[in-house]
Amino acid sequence: MTVITRFPPSPTGFMHIGTARTGLFNWLYARRFGGKMLFRIEDTDRARHSEAAVTAIINGLHWLGIDWDGDVVSQFSCTARHAEIAQALLARGEAYYCYCTPEELEAMREKAKEEGRSNFYDRRWRDSKDTPPAGVQPVIRIKAPLTGERIVEDRVQGTVKIAAEQLDDFIILRADGTPTYMLAVVVDDHDMGVTHVIRGDDHLNNTFRQNVIYEAMGWNIPTYAHIPLILGPDGAKLSKRHGATSVEEYRDMGYLPEAMRSYLLRLGWSHGDDDIITMDQALEWFDLDGIGRSPSRFDFDKLDHINAYYLKLADPARLVDLLADIYLKRGITVDDRGRARLLARMDELKTRSKNLGTMADDAAFLVLPIPYEFDEKAKSLLNEDGQSVVNLVIDALEKLNEFTAPVIEQAFKDLAAAHAGGKLGKIMMPVRAALTGRTSSPALPAAMESMGRDDVIIRLKFAVQDSFSADI
Ligand code: GLU
Repeated sequence: MTVITRFPPSPTGFMHIGTARTGLFNWLYARRFGGKMLFRIEDTDRARHSEAAVTAIINGLHWLGIDWDGDVVSQFSCTARHAEIAQALLARGEAYYCYCTPEELEAMREKAKEEGRSNFYDRRWRDSKDTPPAGVQPVIRIKAPLTGERIVEDRVQGTVKIAAEQLDDFIILRADGTPTYMLAVVVDDHDMGVTHVIRGDDHLNNTFRQNVIYEAMGWNIPTYAHIPLILGPDGAKLSKRHGATSVEEYRDMGYLPEAMRSYLLRLGWSHGDDDIITMDQALEWFDLDGIGRSPSRFDFDKLDHINAYYLKLADPARLVDLLADIYLKRGITVDDRGRARLLARMDELKTRSKNLGTMADDAAFLVLPIPYEFDEKAKSLLNEDGQSVVNLVIDALEKLNEFTAPVIEQAFKDLAAAHAGGKLGKIMMPVRAALTGRTSSPALPAAMESMGRDDVIIRLKFAVQDSFSADI
C-alpha cells in the first residue's frame, strides 16, 4: 500500500505553528515511507475566503521547505461531488431529509439542556413517514448508529472508545445544498486515496462522526494519528500572549527555516535522547510511534538554541543575503560594500546572535548610512569626556601606517596606557558608542578594518560633531 497523507489547512491568513507542525509530520511520514503528501485547501467558508490567505499558507510551506505532490486541491471546487455523496447516502438509506424549523430545533436544544444532554436532535425525521411540510428546504442528516461502542484505533492516542449514544444524526448537507465540513473531509480524503490522517487531536471527536460516513459508504477507514496540541510554556493553549504563534512571524524575526523545522519536529516527536535532529535523520527515523501523547509546551529558549546552532552551520553568503532582506524591510539598502563588510565579519556575527533579526541589530553599524541613531546609553557615554576620548582616537587612527585589526588594537592599548591608566574599556566604550550607536557590538578592531579608515573616521567625527553634541 502506498502511503498517502494529506495536509488540509483552512486558510486563515497566516500559518499557525501548530498547522505547520501538522504539515511537517504529514510530509515526513509520506517521504519516509516513499508515499505522497497531498495538499488541499479547505476553502468552503466563502465568507472568510481570500486568495491572500491561501498564498500565506503556500509561502509558509515553501519557506519551511515542505513540498507536496500533485496540484493544490480546492475543497470548494468539489462541492458537487460532496452533494452527490449525500444523495448516495440517501439512496442507501443511510441518511434522511430533516425538515425541522429553527423554532423546533431551538425547542429541542432547550429540552436537551434541561436534561443535561449534549445531543439535542431527537431524530424525529429519521424514520418518519410524515408528509414533508410545504415550503421547507430540508437538510440531509446521516443515520448514526444508536447503540454499541464506537472505537477509533489511533496511532498516537491508542484505542479510544465512546458510546454510540454520544453521536448525533449530524447534518451532512445544509438546506442550501452546501456540504458540511464533516462530509466534505471524508469525501475528499476518500477520493484523494488518503491512507493516513495525521492531524491535531482537536479533531478526534470529529473522527467518530466521520467514521459513520465511511462505514455508511462502505469505504476504507484511514489510519489515524491525532497529535496533541501545542501549549505555551505555562501549560495554557499557545496564544499571542505567549509570543509569536505564526510561521511568518518567526521568519520575519530572522529564524532560519531549517531551525524552525528542526524545532517543530522535536515539538511532540522524539527519537531517543537526540536533541537536534537533521532532516536527513528525520527522513530515516520519523514514525508515528515517536509522537508523544501529552501536549508539548512551546519552549522559546530551545528554539533560540536550535536557531543559534543552525546559524553557525549556515553558509555565510546566504546569511548576508538574508540580512540584506531584513535591512531592506527596515528601509536600508545594502550595497556591495556593505555586503562585503557583513561577509568579512560573519564568522563572529554568527556566534553572537540568536536570530537574524538580532544579528541585523548587532551589525547595523556596518551598513547604516550616516546619519544614524544613538541609543540612550550610547548618548550618555558620549558626554564631554567620552567625546575627548573619541577625538584622541580619531587622531591616533589618522596617523596609523596600516589600518589592520592588530595595528588598530595596539593603538587602543597605547591610548589606554597613556590616558586611562591602562584601562582599555575607558577608550573602547566611547568609541563603540560613537561608531555603532550602541553599547555592545562585535569586536571593534576587526570591524574597523572591514569598514576602512575613511569611513571609520567620518563616523567617529559625525558622532562628536556639534549638532549631535547639542542633543546629548
Ligand atoms: N481544515 C482543518 C483544520 O485546518 C483540518 C481538517 C482535517 O485535518 O481533517 O483544522
